[in-house]
Amino acid sequence: MNHPLYTKMRAALLDCVSSRDHSHDFSFYRSELLLERVRLFAALFGLASPAWILVDRWLLPEDILGAMMGLRVVTGLVLLLLALVPVKPSLNSARLRITALVVVVMGFYVFVEVLTGGTYPSPGLIGYTILPVLLVGVLSLLPLTILESSAALALIALTVLGTHFSIASLGDAGVLGLFWVLLLFIGFALLAQIFQLRLLLLIHRQATRDALTGLFNRGALLRHAAHVLADCKKREVSYSVLMIDLDRFKLINDTYGHLAGDKVLRAVARVISGSLSPSYLPGRFGGEEFLLLMPDTELEAALEQAERLRASVEELVVKTDSGPLNITASIGVAVGAPGDPLEEVVHRADQSLYSAKESGRNFVVS
Ligand code: GH3
Ligand code: MG
Ligand code: MG
Repeated sequence: MNHPLYTKMRAALLDCVSSRDHSHDFSFYRSELLLERVRLFAALFGLASPAWILVDRWLLPEDILGAMMGLRVVTGLVLLLLALVPVKPSLNSARLRITALVVVVMGFYVFVEVLTGGTYPSPGLIGYTILPVLLVGVLSLLPLTILESSAALALIALTVLGTHFSIASLGDAGVLGLFWVLLLFIGFALLAQIFQLRLLLLIHRQATRDALTGLFNRGALLRHAAHVLADCKKREVSYSVLMIDLDRFKLINDTYGHLAGDKVLRAVARVISGSLSPSYLPGRFGGEEFLLLMPDTELEAALEQAERLRASVEELVVKTDSGPLNITASIGVAVGAPGDPLEEVVHRADQSLYSAKESGRNFVVS
């Protein structure tokens, strides 16, 4: 089946299931967002846990007050650590912190159930037993993939089941009722997470992709480039920049019309992004100018890549209403040592591009 609608729906579904097809940029952005929210919730739970000692003194029997107080202080401290200890944003660190939040809150729940024997002597205790439902509510505010979310939600549901099984309170009407509510909330949480993820992906793609060519737009390209360059600096490898500018493009617009011009831009974008190493970063820099950032690439390899691109653009035939048309591109190449700022290297590539234009166009110059 490769009907366009099927392909689109399949891609949308895969986007929701796992982060495999998400861009690095999106995953980084999502991990920042996840960490920000998880740390906020850890802080709220962390402050609420010891504060609730006052409520305990009012609701709980004397004999478990001491143990409960200790439990609350320890849980509060661990949660505040989760909120305050800084972390480098990545999907793995975000997942780890979400898991830690779930484990600590559910650990607290297990202790409370064991302490109280899973029985509810006072209606006020409902506040303690709905903790898993509250946690599911918190998770529903995170844009998680189905796989990430299922793992966290299953951990919560299984902990509730396991706890009540081990203290032999699984048959209690109250416990069964709680479990039913928990399952309902798990369903809502899954939906809420998927909706958030879809919306984020959609908006992120619209904000970072150039609408005409589908390549990264200038802003996204520069943000991506910052990560790539930091990595080059860490690994102490050079990087190369190609500035690709279509020759006499204004003439194409003037002769064949802007629609034909747009078609040419799309075709050239396909040439640039097709058959590239996955580590290369192509983008639309401005009107008819494209930039290709190549990490871990020395001058010789960069020149080869530029020459291949120049030849492919020259061979390109774009069909228009007024007949087939050809186009050429001039390419400026510059190499940056590890740690060289991008603006400086782009400026040098731009100067090379200017020389290529001076030499009569359809040239690669470094
Ligand atoms: P040179 O060989 O010196 O680069 O000449 P040029 O005509 O390519 O350069 P110039 O900067 O004079 O013209 C660039 C043209 O690109 C002008 C502008 O109308 C056109 N252009 C910019 N963005 C788009 C676009 O999205 N679609 C179309 N059709 N044209 C565009
Ligand atoms: Mg130009
Ligand atoms: Mg041009």
